[in-house]
Amino acid sequence: KPPTLLALNWKMNKTPTEATAWAKELTAQLQPGSAQLAIMAPAIDLPALATSLQGSGVAVGGQDVSAHASGAYTGEISAAMLLDTGASHVVIGHSERREYHAESSQLVAAKTRAAIEAGLIPIVCVGEGLEVRERGEHVTYTLDQLRDSLAGVRLDRPGALVVAYEPVWAIGTGKTATAADAEELCSAIRTALVGLYGPTGQDVQVLYGGSVKPGNIREICDQPNVNGALVGGAALEVQSVLDMASAL
Ligand code: 13P
Repeated sequence: KPPTLLALNWKMNKTPTEATAWAKELTAQLQPGSAQLAIMAPAIDLPALATSLQGSGVAVGGQDVSAHASGAYTGEISAAMLLDTGASHVVIGHSERREYHAESSQLVAAKTRAAIEAGLIPIVCVGEGLEVRERGEHVTYTLDQLRDSLAGVRLDRPGALVVAYEPVWAIGTGKTATAADAEELCSAIRTALVGLYGPTGQDVQVLYGGSVKPGNIREICDQPNVNGALVGGAALEVQSVLDMASAL
């Protein structure tokens, strides 16, 4: 089983000043544990965050990246820029970007290729909405979305890609998928990844996201094909992050 990753998606929360204070509070109390920890922060927080987390073993990453390497793309941030701040990871294709910024799986694939080429580890998000789940088509839908989101993405080394299964109906709603729901999809994703990449697919960390909190993280991450969690709301308080890290 690949190592467990606890990825904290802060979304649009915390200024650089708040992020720095938060990181100091976290590292003062964090016990060495079995899970890798990564903070996916607003891009503007990354330089300060990377500096305050130096030597702590806690990784940082962005929440989006441009599909382009450089040039006339006002407002965009390139993979090389993120990397230069000290980021190692980047979330790509989060459902909030797919929904509010009309990001297609084709764009997600282009961003994923750009991230990998630059040496960033993309956390590619997939997952179905409520209507799809109610029609019972969540496996087919999510796997189609996965294949489209990875179009043209080549993996030349283990650990170069992370996939997060985040059912949209479970994000920020308090409605967590059951551990069995998470395992059903993460296992289907694993099989698809092995189909696409051969044995390298076995080493891809497949995360679950959607209303994960200290009380449910253990059961979810104990599933054979779940290699960690992508956490939103419960990632904002230091104490709840410490509780999740110690539960793993
Ligand atoms: P919540 O943990 O707030 O449900 O958010 C999940 C998420 O979107 C993480 O990327």
